[in-house]
Amino acid sequence: MARLIESVFGHEEHIDSLIHLKLNNRWPHAFLFVGPSAIGKKKLALAFAQMLICEQSDTACGVCGPCLRVAKLQSENLTIIEPDTSLVKPVIKVDAIRGLLDALSLASLGGKRVVLIDEAFTMNPQAANTLLKTLEEPFENVYFFLIGQSVQQFLPTIRSRSQVVRFSSLSVANLKRIKPGLPEWAYDSARGQVDRLVQMTSNDGLEKRAEAFTFLQQFIEDADFLKSANWRQQVKDRSWSNMTIGAWLQVICGALAFKAQAKGLTHLVSDIQTEQIKKLAPVTAEKLLKLSEYLLQAERDIAGNLDPVLVFEKMWVEYARVG
Ligand SMILES: [Zn+2]
Repeated sequence: MARLIESVFGHEEHIDSLIHLKLNNRWPHAFLFVGPSAIGKKKLALAFAQMLICEQSDTACGVCGPCLRVAKLQSENLTIIEPDTSLVKPVIKVDAIRGLLDALSLASLGGKRVVLIDEAFTMNPQAANTLLKTLEEPFENVYFFLIGQSVQQFLPTIRSRSQVVRFSSLSVANLKRIKPGLPEWAYDSARGQVDRLVQMTSNDGLEKRAEAFTFLQQFIEDADFLKSANWRQQVKDRSWSNMTIGAWLQVICGALAFKAQAKGLTHLVSDIQTEQIKKLAPVTAEKLLKLSEYLLQAERDIAGNLDPVLVFEKMWVEYARVG
């Protein structure tokens, strides 16, 4: 299946309206795709890159040389830029954008060229301003996809020069199509994001969830939480802290449902969660509700590239204040 659009699940309305733009020659120079992570934004951008680069069909034939090279990520007409995620604070530096613009300003390769900047909000100010100049005076036949989680992550000047498309999480039905055969509780806890689903059902993921629950007990019970150093190293790992927030939110929902004696929820809860929910019994519903609010904010803060350690410290201080 080399037509990439066929491997995209969900987002049907956006796909229809983008195809409409394409067929009516109203394709803009830059799109800003925003929405939760791991829901297929990059996949969709690649599918449309293929449609732009294909020389046989407006909606990609899937079999010509250019289509196949895009599918293998080996097309000279496609450039993908992403931040160095090994850093505590991932960043796209100005050199990456300058290098890109130099390449684009060289004699045209012929055909359309597509630039996909993943996690584009990690561009440092210099990089963003350099890119902005190009968006203001676009190259002919060069099309950009900038990908992020929310428009607020981007400079207003970049937003105003891009066409914004807002994506939502995937439905449970689509998660089941993408990764069939997993337990119900996992689809429910993935909150529409494929990376969460995969992580939480792997062996490594299950182990990490157990660690996340131990950490939750420490967060709730340890009066000297801020003084202890053991959790900081772990929280620095952004994917671990994201997973932890998701796992905490889920047991908190479970604990609240348990307090309200909601029936029919047991199939959504794994054994390890049941154990954790019982441990939360002494915590008041009010405190749990507040903590879930703080967790949602923490999730946004980490997505907005704040230091996860600071985010957890702030959250603990707020939580400790709740009576
Ligand atoms: Zn083609």
